[in-house]
Amino acid sequence: MKQLITNIQVFDGTHEPLIEHASIIIDNNIITEITQENVSRDQFDTVTDGRLSTAIPGLTDCHVHFSISKAPGQLDAMRIDETAIRAAKNAEATLYRGFTTVRDAGSLVFGLKKSIDEGYVDGPRIFPSHGIISQTSGHGDSRGSQAQGKTVFGHDSPTMKTGAFITADGVPEVLHAVREQLFLGASQIKIMAGGGIGSLYDPLESLQFTPEEMRAAVQAAADFGTYVFAHLYTPQQMQRAAEAGVQCFEHGTLLDKETAQIIKNKNIWLCPQFALFFDNFVSDVVTSPTQDRKRLLVQKAAYTQAEIINEFDLPTVFGTDLAMTKEWCDRYQPAEFRSKKKVHGSFKGLLTATGNVQELFKLCGYRNPYPDGKIGVLEAGSFADILLIKGNPAADLDLLSDINNIKMIMKDGKIYKNTL
Ligand SMILES: [Zn+2]
Repeated sequence: MKQLITNIQVFDGTHEPLIEHASIIIDNNIITEITQENVSRDQFDTVTDGRLSTAIPGLTDCHVHFSISKAPGQLDAMRIDETAIRAAKNAEATLYRGFTTVRDAGSLVFGLKKSIDEGYVDGPRIFPSHGIISQTSGHGDSRGSQAQGKTVFGHDSPTMKTGAFITADGVPEVLHAVREQLFLGASQIKIMAGGGIGSLYDPLESLQFTPEEMRAAVQAAADFGTYVFAHLYTPQQMQRAAEAGVQCFEHGTLLDKETAQIIKNKNIWLCPQFALFFDNFVSDVVTSPTQDRKRLLVQKAAYTQAEIINEFDLPTVFGTDLAMTKEWCDRYQPAEFRSKKKVHGSFKGLLTATGNVQELFKLCGYRNPYPDGKIGVLEAGSFADILLIKGNPAADLDLLSDINNIKMIMKDGKIYKNTL
């Protein structure tokens, strides 16, 4: 099928100046040309009049957890079918907020990805990590109480039985856990390299995984052509992970200048969250005094982290740590664009969810589950993942914090929303 979108200006995902008076030509699910010439409408099956809106690449959120749809501590109360249904709902809502691609940073997601790709469920493309790999007593050891045991076959915790969280200790177990995710189809590997806010039993400052264990994870991923990304907060955690070859840092909120220089030198990606802390969405995740003490420690550091990221011009991608209920996600995910504007300005903020993502996904090498088109940019050879926006978000990123400004959502050449 040949489609034409005309009467638009185009933000290509890389350059700040827009391509004015443009048309996009689409062949099935791929963009074949973006042109400023007059195009005869005759040769097309459908023509969309963009009514002077701005076309931008479909957005990418590089840190979601689709199957984690309740606060930590409440997950064990969910049946696996309930978990799956809520994950599908989260995926659908994410697409309708303008995100045509996500990197799932660990959750029960392979079946969901397959169902989306095969057209059973509406949702974004998913770069799956599946099980989050953690040491025993680490951030991913999600046993709900100290009375809950660990058996030789795994855990009593229902959440861990699903395979969304895996504990592995020592090099052989870490290699096994990584290779298991690769067997299942992971495009990259997620590990927990330090304490977390939501978990009850690990200190935030704790160093998780020895250098040998972390290097083993990186080696097993690299042998399959891909990379490891890590949950962490403190400089000590980040420096150990950098040394071990981890290539993308999640959160990293307690960043200092010494560590920023290391990140810069090693070309490590950073995936920070701002609205979570600036707008206090994090408080909704916290349900106990232990968690709240950890929240405070991290939240205070978020402003300094933003300053250091700018001072060192660190490469960052957009990632919200999206989890919890649909209603929470509806409020929180678009709000991150307001924070990105405050920290980076509109153009650089928009790059974090578009052009930068294309660079990050190159780390997946031949594990990229969508090798047939480009993601995060609009040019010949890109997937037809296109949003039409009322106004220019590269000049005012606040526009994306209100999904009503997204007039059309196309993913893979199919239109999901059109209110032009
Ligand atoms: Zn996360």
